[in-house]
Amino acid sequence: MSTNTTAAAGLHALFGGTFDPIHYGHLRPVEALAQEVGLNQVTLLPNHVPPHRPQPEANAQQRLKMVELAIAGNPLFAVDDRELHRTTPSYTVETLEAIRQERGPHQPLAFIIGQDSLLSLHKWQRWQDLLSLCHLLVLARPGYDDRMETPALQRWLDTHRVSDPAALHSRPHGSLYLADTPLLEISATEIRERRHQGASCDDLLPRPVQRYIELQGLYR
Ligand code: ATP
Repeated sequence: MSTNTTAAAGLHALFGGTFDPIHYGHLRPVEALAQEVGLNQVTLLPNHVPPHRPQPEANAQQRLKMVELAIAGNPLFAVDDRELHRTTPSYTVETLEAIRQERGPHQPLAFIIGQDSLLSLHKWQRWQDLLSLCHLLVLARPGYDDRMETPALQRWLDTHRVSDPAALHSRPHGSLYLADTPLLEISATEIRERRHQGASCDDLLPRPVQRYIELQGLYR
């Protein structure tokens, strides 16, 4: 089921996404975050997109393959494909519950999201349970507000926010950390659009992923 995962000790982070395709806007800020807070491993979790939602252009197997190509040879990263095996909607909170069960109650565990995802986190299934399962690490992302939508959401953020990464190591879950990671103006949408227009995507994603996209004729 899971590929390339190790239950290493220390602070382990999970990073969910559609990865249609995976790009440097995912990889580089996460590498910087690993340095900033001391992550020993980051497991990428490609999402299952349920049939009633707009489908990714690449299928699940292609999205997984692109993730594998992007992280090959980089010991920081692993991939866990459990959500892709589901036929029912997969909610992040349920995946985190399963992983928390596997890891036990004491191991520090974090989930990484971009600033855009933080702003819409209150729309996620059982979002208020997330911090009882893991820490949340937020990547800076250009073009998104740094304030939450409502005073209540901003209060929630201020209550859980920590500025010292040590807090992420000393407790298993419950803290929210806004990272000072590099701002990369890259999105999968932009990559798909550039491909549709026949424009180059050099510098936006790793070469092996670009070659795979070419070979599979993706995003034409
Ligand atoms: P799309 O353009 O198709 O919506 P995306 O580029 O936002 O895709 P996703 O796979 O949806 O990529 O994102 C997975 C996670 O990575 C999300 O939490 C998102 O906020 C974050 N993320 C994506 N791109 C960036 C970026 N350039 N900087 C910081 N975080 C990012």
